[in-house]
Amino acid sequence: MKRINLLSPRLANQIAAGEVVERPASVVKELLENSIDSGANKVDLEIDQGGVKLIRIRDNGGGITKEDLPLALSRHATSKIIELEDLEAVATLGFRGEALASISSVSRLTLTSRQPGNESAWQVQTEGREMDAVIAPAAHPEGTSVEVRDLFFNTPARRKFLKTEKTEFKHLDEVVKRQALGRFDVAFQLRHNGKVIHQLRQADSEIERERRIASVCGSAFVDNAMKVDMEASASGLRLWGWIGMPTFSRSQADLQYFFVNGRIIRDKVVSHAVRQAYQDVLYHGRHPAYVLYLELDPALVDVNVHPTKHEVRFRESRLVHDFLFRTIHRVIADARPDEQVTAQT
Ligand code: ADP
Ligand code: MG
Repeated sequence: MKRINLLSPRLANQIAAGEVVERPASVVKELLENSIDSGANKVDLEIDQGGVKLIRIRDNGGGITKEDLPLALSRHATSKIIELEDLEAVATLGFRGEALASISSVSRLTLTSRQPGNESAWQVQTEGREMDAVIAPAAHPEGTSVEVRDLFFNTPARRKFLKTEKTEFKHLDEVVKRQALGRFDVAFQLRHNGKVIHQLRQADSEIERERRIASVCGSAFVDNAMKVDMEASASGLRLWGWIGMPTFSRSQADLQYFFVNGRIIRDKVVSHAVRQAYQDVLYHGRHPAYVLYLELDPALVDVNVHPTKHEVRFRESRLVHDFLFRTIHRVIADARPDEQVTAQT
C-alpha cells in the first residue's frame, strides 16, 4: 500500500498553476488585474520574446508593505476578501490569492514595491523552487513592479505547449486590449521587444474614450458603431457602450467585448441575447461587433465560477437576458430608417 503524503507547497503551487497559468497571456492577465486592483491609474508593460523570456509590469498603485511581500507570494493569501460574505459582492478583479503563488512557482519572479508616502522600496525574489522569499531593500518609485522571467523554465511539459513568439504575443496583446477597454481611467503602455505597441492615455471624456476604442478595435468600428446607454430603474441594470451597425458585421466573432462590472466575461446568456437582437438585420453566419458594459448590483452576479474568472453566473439570468435584448434591439431599430442593410463588410 502506498502511504498518503502532503504535497510540498511548491508542488501544490505548480499544480494550481496548471489552472491559471497556461501561457504568457495568462500571466499578464493576472498581473494586470493586480495592478488595477491596487488602484493604479498608470500601468506599463514590457515584454520580451512573446512574454516567454520576460514580462515586466509596473504600476503606480497602493503597493505592498515590507511585511506583506512574502505573503503576496503565498497561496491562499489575499488582501481582497476575508470571509465568504465578501465574495458575495466582490468588487476587485482578484480574490483567489493564487496568482502570484502560481506564477512564482513556474518562473523566476521578482516583486518590488513601495507604498505611497514610504521612504523605501522592498523586493523579494523567487526562483521556482525557492519559496522562502528573501526581502531586500530596492530602489523603486511609489507602486509595484513584477518581473517574470523564463516562464515554465522548471516545467518542461508546460513549456512544450507554448506556440511561436508571434502567437504568444497575439494572445498577450488581446489580454492587454481587453483590460484597456475595461478601464478607461487607467493609462496603459505595452512594449514588445523594445517597440511600443500601445500607448493609451487616461480617457476621461467621451471623445477620449472613443479614441481609445478606435486605437484598440480600429477606427472603422467607431465610425460604424451606435451608442448604447440604458438604465432600467426597477432592476438597477445599466448597459452602455458601442454596438456595430448591421452593415459592419464580421465573418468571425472577433470583435465582441462584454464587461460585467468592469470584468470581461464570456457568457451564453449574453451572447444569446445579443444574437437575438441582431437576428433580423444580420445575414446568416455574420457576427455583430460590440464593446458593451453591464453594470449591476455585485450581489446579483457570481464571479467565483471558474479559476480564470472568465465566467459568471447571473442570479436573475432571464431578467439580464431580456434587458440586454430589449436595449440592443431598440438601438438597432432606432437606427434603421436611414440604415439600409445592404453592403456587408
Ligand atoms: P489576489 O489578486 O487574488 O488577491 P494574487 O496572488 O494575485 O491574489 O495577489 C496576492 C496579493 O498580493 C493581493 O491580494 C495584493 O494584496 C498583493 N498584490 C499583488 N499585486 C499587487 C500590486 N500590483 N499592487 C499592490 N498589491 C499587490
Ligand atoms: Mg490577483
